[in-house]
Amino acid sequence: MSTDAPVPSSLDAIQPRDKAEILAQALPYIRKFHGKTLVIKYGGNAMTDPALQQDFAEDIVLLKLVGMNPIVVHGGGPQIDAALAKIGKKGTFVQGMRVTDPETMDVVEWVLAGEVQQDIVGLINAVGGKAVGLTGRDGAMIRARQMRLADKDDPSKTHDVGQVGEIVSIDPSVVKALQDDAFIPVISPIGFGEKNESYNINADLVASKLAEVLKAEKLLLLTNIRGVLDKQGQLLTDLTARQIDELVADGTISGGMLPKIAGALDAAKSGVNTVHIVDGRVPHAMLLEILTDQAYGTMIRSH
Ligand code: ADP
Ligand code: MG
Repeated sequence: MSTDAPVPSSLDAIQPRDKAEILAQALPYIRKFHGKTLVIKYGGNAMTDPALQQDFAEDIVLLKLVGMNPIVVHGGGPQIDAALAKIGKKGTFVQGMRVTDPETMDVVEWVLAGEVQQDIVGLINAVGGKAVGLTGRDGAMIRARQMRLADKDDPSKTHDVGQVGEIVSIDPSVVKALQDDAFIPVISPIGFGEKNESYNINADLVASKLAEVLKAEKLLLLTNIRGVLDKQGQLLTDLTARQIDELVADGTISGGMLPKIAGALDAAKSGVNTVHIVDGRVPHAMLLEILTDQAYGTMIRSH
């Protein structure tokens, strides 16, 4: 074999007949989810690695073109940390929530709505979609108030985390109008309060609540880890409410996994059919979950 022959990618090695067979096997899933709403939280490595970004955008556009309604809610922790570092500030967290003073809030809005959201819109549009960026202010979508963060060990104590918001209500009419018109909404997790003040809301919580009010078929939370891990670091492929309570109580679930699992469980309990925490580092993780019976991650059950 000549040494300068191009190394075939794993897909080039697949025979066209097998490729056709693979496509045909997606048909039952396409039929099942046609016209259904899928809420996808885009976060973690899938958001910072260029090859994974490309895969993500392609997956979203493909799902839209075969008749599903993907709605993207994005995070941006690493990008916010990088922007804070530029102005000499270090992000601090309490129970997975970013402590948000007024200066940090400004940075959060610039980075999420100005940079990250528009990057995602651009990526989706570049592969043939029609994405529209929104924050929770648009269409008066996300009303919020200051979060009273109860201490996880002593619920009578609360932590002041500044302009971190909890959701009061979500009006999804702007999202519905856009999805009906072939657009793909891309939402930054920023809410507004009674005095028109801004709130920084954990993106997992926005995605979960949005899935609930839209009566979504699926909620997928893409993250930077295999899924929920047990004390020994083994993947837990599915979890019930009772198991989740135990894992939180004994400290196995901590940090950013706390709001993620809380939101996921709420969505499952309020009727979202499938709730999955998915490894966003796996190429085309979304297509694997939606169009095959393979899934890499943790499924959350309501009971
Ligand atoms: P994102 O919101 O972008 O998906 P986060 O950092 O907010 O990422 O949340 C995921 C992180 O939660 C993981 O990278 C891990 O460090 C942390 N974590 C805490 N407890 C667990 C657990 N039991 N299983 C998996 N990850 C956990
Ligand atoms: Mg997070």
